[in-house]
Amino acid sequence: MSPKRRISKGIQDEGYFHQREGSATLRYPADQLPVPEVGRYQLAIEMNDCIVCDLCAKICPVNCIDIEAIKATEDIGKTSDGTTKRLHAAKFDIDMGKCMFCGLCTVVCPTECLVMTNEYDRSFTDPKELNYVFAEMSVEEAAQKRAAAAAADLAKKAAKEAALNKPSEMKGAQQ
Ligand code: SF4
Ligand code: SF4
Repeated sequence: MSPKRRISKGIQDEGYFHQREGSATLRYPADQLPVPEVGRYQLAIEMNDCIVCDLCAKICPVNCIDIEAIKATEDIGKTSDGTTKRLHAAKFDIDMGKCMFCGLCTVVCPTECLVMTNEYDRSFTDPKELNYVFAEMSVEEAAQKRAAAAAADLAKKAAKEAALNKPSEMKGAQQ
């Protein structure tokens, strides 16, 4: 059973110093205050629904979102709202140690995959652990995807140049 709690009073209230009994604090974590619906706590992302558009990183006032996108050369499917995915996330880090909980990143996210959860109790002994890593791509896989994207870009460029040179070749052949 929870101990009797003191009535919440402001310090200017006449009876503030007359409350001798009851607890003024919570027995956390056994007792917890309700979290407001609009509260802003830890960020979480559903990576399957992220289109790696970078909008969240661009709007972040403190630059604590770090994304590396790689162009996909294959079909990588759609998000749950039907948006076509064209980019891989080789890196998607959010440094919650720098985050000021403004929520702007969640507002601009077009697929609503980036949200502020009501989880407020996450503590670490090493500050580096406040950098949340969301991308699941290995270093090797990212290198392969980068190489495939670069090769596809080169092939596209070569095809474009060939197409641009074609009329002049034809012209030369007619003379
Ligand atoms: S909540 Fe604000 S500060 Fe935190 S990551 Fe999002 S945009 Fe950046
Ligand atoms: S705004 Fe949303 S969809 Fe775009 S990169 Fe950020 S989390 Fe992903």
